[in-house]
Amino acid sequence: MPQLFHGLPAAPGIGIGALFTYHTWQFERELPSFYPAQRPEEEWQQFLKAIAAVDQELIRLVDAENSLIAEVFAAQRAILQDPTLVNAVRAAIFNQGQGALQATHQVIQETAALFRNLGDDYFAGRAVDIIDIGQRLLKQMGVHTADSHQLQRIPPRTILVARDLTMSELTQAPLAHIVGLALAESTPTAHSAILARSLGIPMVCALGEAILNQDDGQAAIIDGGLGKLLVLPTSEEVKHYTLTQEQQVADRASALLHAQEPAHTRDGQFVPIFANANSPEEVEQVRTIGADGVGLLRTEYLFQNRASPPSVTEQAATYRHFAGSVQGGQLTVRALDAGGDKPVQYINHALEENPFLGLRGVRLLLAQPELLRNQFRALCTVAAPNASADSDGKEVATQLRFMLPMISTVEEVRAARGLLNEVAATMAANGEPCGKIKVGVMIEVPSAALLATRMAPLVDFFSIGTNDLAQYALATDRTNSSVAALADPLSPAVLRLIQMTCAAGAAAGIPVSLCGEIGGDPVVVPLLLGLGLTELSVPLPAVPLVKEAVRQCDLAHCHRLAEEALCCEDALAVRALLEPQ
Ligand code: PEP
Ligand code: MG
Repeated sequence: MPQLFHGLPAAPGIGIGALFTYHTWQFERELPSFYPAQRPEEEWQQFLKAIAAVDQELIRLVDAENSLIAEVFAAQRAILQDPTLVNAVRAAIFNQGQGALQATHQVIQETAALFRNLGDDYFAGRAVDIIDIGQRLLKQMGVHTADSHQLQRIPPRTILVARDLTMSELTQAPLAHIVGLALAESTPTAHSAILARSLGIPMVCALGEAILNQDDGQAAIIDGGLGKLLVLPTSEEVKHYTLTQEQQVADRASALLHAQEPAHTRDGQFVPIFANANSPEEVEQVRTIGADGVGLLRTEYLFQNRASPPSVTEQAATYRHFAGSVQGGQLTVRALDAGGDKPVQYINHALEENPFLGLRGVRLLLAQPELLRNQFRALCTVAAPNASADSDGKEVATQLRFMLPMISTVEEVRAARGLLNEVAATMAANGEPCGKIKVGVMIEVPSAALLATRMAPLVDFFSIGTNDLAQYALATDRTNSSVAALADPLSPAVLRLIQMTCAAGAAAGIPVSLCGEIGGDPVVVPLLLGLGLTELSVPLPAVPLVKEAVRQCDLAHCHRLAEEALCCEDALAVRALLEPQ
C-alpha cells in the first residue's frame, strides 16, 4: 500500500531509492547500567582519560576536507573543552559520589535538555552535537552506543530513515550511497540538515514516529523541497518524480550559468536578489553565488559564546570587512535578535513562560539600549565618507542598511529611530566620522503588518520575516516539530499580511523585501512578486534558481496569480495553484 508522509523541508531536491532504517541509540532513553562508583579520584581519572581520547578523535575529524564537517567538529571540540561541562562532571563525581559513566551521562543529558528546552530551532540543533559528544565519551568508557557497523552497511541508492542523526553518525555513513534523508524528529537548522544542503542530499525532518516502522528495502521517493516521503510509490509517481528530478538538475545547471546576470522579469522589472547570511563564511560567498548583496545578516553569532558584547571597534571592523566582501552591493545588518528563544549569556534574561512572546528582538534592545546604540554606531563608522576601506585597503562602495527585528507597535519604531538619531547626532557633535545608514523594520508580527501604513513613513524599507510572521499569525511554534508544519507561510492568512505590507510600502514609496525561508523556493517567486514584493533575500544556495524564476515572471500574470492565491482556503490549495501542471 502506497503511503505518504509529510514533514518539514530541510534540504531541497528529489531522491528515488529504497528505505534503510538506522536505529539511533537514544541517549535519554537507553540508560547504560551504572557500575558502583570507585574512589572519586579514580572515577575522575577515568573521565579525564575519556575526554583526552575523544579530543584526539575530534582533532582527526577537524582535518576533514569538507569545511562544514571540519567546522562542526571544531565546534564540538570547543564544547568538550568548555569548563562548564567538565566542572559539572567533576561536581557529580566528587560531591554526589557518582561514577564517571553515570556523571557523564547525567551532565550530557541535562545540558542537551537545557539546549532543547530553550525553544529555539538553532539551539535544538546544537543539543544533537552535545549528545554526539556524550556518545563518544560513553563509548570510551565501554558503552556500546551508535552502531557504526549498521551505518557502514547502507547499500547504494538509500533513503536513510532515522529518528535523528548526529554529525558523527552521518559522517560515518557512506554518503555517496545516500539519495535522501528522512528523519522522524530534528529541525531544518540541525547540523545534519546544514550538511545535507551543502552536499545536495534531499532531506525531510519531523516526519513522525510512524516512519521508523517501515520495512527496509521498500521503494520510496523523498521530496526535500515539499517535505514529503512517499513509500511504495505507484509507477506513475515514479515516472513523474524521475522527470521532475531530471528537470531540477537541468534547471540548476542553467541557473548557475546565468547566476551573475541581473534578474529582470520578462516585462523588464529589475528585482534585486539578496542572500541571507548567518556567518562570515556565507558573507564571503554572496558575490560568487550571484547575489546582489546581503539582505539579512543575522548578527546573533557575533554576540553569542562570549563573556561580553563585542565593542564598537570590533563590530565596525567586522561590518567593514563584510561591506568589502559585498563591494558595490548592499549589506543589510539586522540588529541583534536576542532574547527568549535566542539567549545571550551575558544578558540577564528573566525566566519567561512564553519566550516567543517575551522580551525579544527590538523589545530587548529598547530595554538595553546600549546594545542597539553600539551596533548602530559601528555601522555609522563604516559608512563614514573616507573611512570606507576594508582591512585590505579596498575602497568600500556598499550600501548599508540596518533593520530592527520583532517590531510590533508604531511606538517601538519611533523609540528605536529616536535612539538611532541621537547616536548620529552625538557622533556628529563629537566630530566622529559618521555616514548615513538606511533604517528599516522587519515585519514579522501580524500587528506590524496591520499597522504598516502607519510605520512606512517612519522607515526607509520593510523586510518581511515570514518564518516568524507565519508562526505568530497561525499561533504555531515554529520549533515544535509536531505542529511546525502548520506554520506555513503560504497560508492565505499570511499572504494577506504580506500583501498589506507591500501596499503600505508602495504607497510610501519604500522598498519591501522578504527574507523568510519561503523566498528561496523558486515555485513561490511569481506569487511573491504578484503580492508586491520589490526585492527578495533568500538562503544563499537558492540565489541562482530564484534569479532564474524571476526571469520567467510576467508581472501582470503574477498579480493575477496573487489574487487567486488570496482567495484560496488554505496553504495546500495555494501550493496546488503554484505547482507546474
Ligand atoms: C523570519 O522570521 O522570517 C526571519 C527571517 O528571521 P529569523 O528566521 O532569524 O527569526
Ligand atoms: Mg524572525
